Amino acid sequence: DPVVAIVGRPNVGKSTIFNRIAGERISIVEDTPGVTRDRIYAHSEWLGQRFSLIDTGGIDIGDEPFVTQIQEQAEIAIDEADVIILIVSIKEGITDADEKVARILYQTDKPVIVAVNKVDNPEMRAEIYDFYSLGLGDPLPISGSHGIGLGDLLEKVCHYFPQKTVESDSETINFSFIGRPNVGKSSLVNAILGENRVIVSNIEGTTRDAIDTPFETDNGEQFTVIDTAGIRKRGKVYENTEKYSVLRALRAIDRSDVVLVVLDAATGIREQDKKVAGYAHEAGRGIIIVVNKWDAVKKDSYTMTEFEKMIRQEFQYLDYAPIIFVSATTKQRLNQLSKLIKRVSENQQRRIKSAVLNDVLMDAIARNPTPTENGKRLKVYYGTQVAIKPPTFVIFVNDPELVHFSYERYLRNQFRESFDFQGTPLHLIARKRK
Ligand code: GDP
Repeated sequence: DPVVAIVGRPNVGKSTIFNRIAGERISIVEDTPGVTRDRIYAHSEWLGQRFSLIDTGGIDIGDEPFVTQIQEQAEIAIDEADVIILIVSIKEGITDADEKVARILYQTDKPVIVAVNKVDNPEMRAEIYDFYSLGLGDPLPISGSHGIGLGDLLEKVCHYFPQKTVESDSETINFSFIGRPNVGKSSLVNAILGENRVIVSNIEGTTRDAIDTPFETDNGEQFTVIDTAGIRKRGKVYENTEKYSVLRALRAIDRSDVVLVVLDAATGIREQDKKVAGYAHEAGRGIIIVVNKWDAVKKDSYTMTEFEKMIRQEFQYLDYAPIIFVSATTKQRLNQLSKLIKRVSENQQRRIKSAVLNDVLMDAIARNPTPTENGKRLKVYYGTQVAIKPPTFVIFVNDPELVHFSYERYLRNQFRESFDFQGTPLHLIARKRK
């Protein structure tokens, strides 16, 4: 999807506008303990046109002076976005900081739209002409808190979206390595590409800020590795900030069928690893846990089991994700990785016929009776699969409130035991039968 970035100095109303546009689309499908959504990135839609929205104001640059921060946020927008919205405020008029941001935005060829916020009533509209002097085209009056003018703004934004190029080859499986800095993501990409036949693309400019490399394995399977870290300008201050790497991970996850969460065997599990993994889980993508630098660990015959146990404990919600121990340096087990990715991708797209599904469901209920609450027993009438990627099931019941977490987990596990869903989250939705 195209990316829209919101920039502007503090207090112009960026996050209000972000929340307005993102609205209910910021949805968390399954609770992930320990993961709080950083609201800097959201999926949105305007008249059927999907896009991703970034609030650059939420990106933490560190202890830089205020002006440096907003300049860097503007640079991130230039790097990451297809369309940039510069928010200014009619209350304060044009400030020095606004002008500084505008000057950075002059340097990009990307479309920039000036939105003048806090135009809460029509009488104020005449004043927006001042903002022509920013030199970035027609200013557009909006009111984030009143929800005025957002439709016009989005229409203008969508107008600039790049035309869709030819759909990429559906045969290929897109995957990415995500993880905190230095776990070995780039090394893994290089190692895998070194082992396989890289397909040289003749479609130019299909990707802008990510290096997508299609390759083919010996047995003719096609993959594309998405490496958003690859062409970042090394050494920029924001490069290593945590929120920025989260943003990068979110974008990679977005575009992947299967996400490989990379852990560093040498340093063990850190808080940031859990965060990154949580995002992949929430996005509903296929997940494989890759423990890299296995060569650097002193091992005995228990080491792997111990490490696995620790992972299961720290990432309880990822109990469905296979774990593989590899080394980018020695290439250990890298040849197994593509098979695993393929399998997880297939599982993501698995469809279960309703008849078979209901056999499993009724069997499960017979073996473990449904819970009761205040003398009322949960009744499950029927289940059906409504979606893939991830497989999503609706079960029709007498009262969805009675589907407690533990029973839901039981049913989910029964599905997993009956079908191969390794590596994919399963979504289960209880609906009241009308
Ligand atoms: P990224 O930031 O996640 O992309 O990490 P890099 O790929 O840049 O790797 C970070 C560091 O870890 C580099 O010094 C690599 O040489 C090293 N490294 C990567 N993979 C391995 C591995 O499998 N074993 C060992 N011993 N070192 C590795």
